[in-house]
Amino acid sequence: MKGIAVLGATGTIGVNTLDVIRRHVEQYRVVALTANTQVDRLLEQCIEFQPEFAVMVDENAASVLDQKIKQHGLDTKVLQGAKSLETVVALDAVDSVMAAIVGAAGLDSSLAAARAGKRILLANKESLVMSGKLFMDEVQKHNAELLPIDSEHNAIFQCMPSNYAKGLDDIGVKQILLTGSGGPFRELPLEQFSQVTPEQAIAHPNWEMGKKISVDSATMMNKGLELIEACWLFNTSSERVKIVLHPQSIIHSMVEYVDGSILAQMGQPDMRTPIAHALAWPERIASGVNSLDLINMGHLEFTEPDMRRYPCLLLAKEAMLQSGTATAILNAANEVAVQAFLDRELNFTDIAKTVEYTLEQITVEPALSIDTVTKTDARARQVAQEFIQAQQFNTIRLKNS
Ligand code: NAD
Ligand code: MG
Repeated sequence: MKGIAVLGATGTIGVNTLDVIRRHVEQYRVVALTANTQVDRLLEQCIEFQPEFAVMVDENAASVLDQKIKQHGLDTKVLQGAKSLETVVALDAVDSVMAAIVGAAGLDSSLAAARAGKRILLANKESLVMSGKLFMDEVQKHNAELLPIDSEHNAIFQCMPSNYAKGLDDIGVKQILLTGSGGPFRELPLEQFSQVTPEQAIAHPNWEMGKKISVDSATMMNKGLELIEACWLFNTSSERVKIVLHPQSIIHSMVEYVDGSILAQMGQPDMRTPIAHALAWPERIASGVNSLDLINMGHLEFTEPDMRRYPCLLLAKEAMLQSGTATAILNAANEVAVQAFLDRELNFTDIAKTVEYTLEQITVEPALSIDTVTKTDARARQVAQEFIQAQQFNTIRLKNS
């Protein structure tokens, strides 16, 4: 029996993870489940999976959950606060940690899982974007195992030889082909971008996801974050990661070798495939995902992204080239801007402007410690908030527009 802690259990990835585990209860035991505020969903999950611990980050929600757990006569111990996330990932009974908290809020617990030498199933790409090298160093130092859940990175992992940590040149890989659907606005006339509503932005054509990553997919900041994630996971530079638009989301990414071979991983756009892969690796388990119907699948298309449509993607590429704390600034400004967009405080096109402005305002430093990263994150949030409050978006002319 493998012990699993699911961080962000009530989110899209968390729910999909539990769906895979539900099919293999003889192999996996849920030791801890965590959420931010959603009491009822976490309670239901506790009733079904009977974990030893349930962490509710929000204090009030934790006490409500605690009462309800007791009313149901469950043995689950309720913990509260963000520090408790770090406690549960380090438990001896935990073998694998599903890191599926959204945003920078997932950094400390992902790092704690690395320091405890666990198998980390990493959905929380933001932690790698913020602290790339530092995070990878912790993984290596503590002999942790890092398996990507992001469907593209999981696909790349499946197409790579096992010694990929040596870097692409040593393993005969020419480049990584990182695919993306282009999101819901791939064909929207450019002049209509500023009127896009949150409802339109979160309606992704192929994937069911949380709100933040859905907006990121619409701006393609998601692909930018994934580019950064790929560089750290696969020990390469951004020039060796080519972004390819593939609207059908059937191929989840590819690896091109020097001999001309391109290996691709294909499947239904369903996160249970990468989740099951990473849970069981190097073995395979059923995920509940249907076979891909190749005969009736239709055409697969591949095109280059139109950078005028996706200024966030360009900002992410530049931040990765700049390196140091630039990617933490990018990530923090984006989180603030996306939340403000969802709260209708700014237009869709102002997301990129907020990120660009914040990157211009803050001096990039070498990311020498997590403390530096955390302080930079806080500073970038403040700069982005002030920019949004001032509502002076027309002072920013995006470089590529
Ligand atoms: P979601 O919004 O559906 O769920 C987020 C989860 O994080 C919830 O359980 C919530 O309780 C928890 N959470 C939120 N704020 C928190 C805080 N401050 N402290 C502790 N917990 C907090 O998000 P999601 O779509 O499941 O995405 C989760 C992560 O996985 C993100 O980093 C996302 O980029 C990544 N990811 C998601 C998908 C997908 O298909 N949904 C695909 C690839 C990667
Ligand atoms: Mg992805």
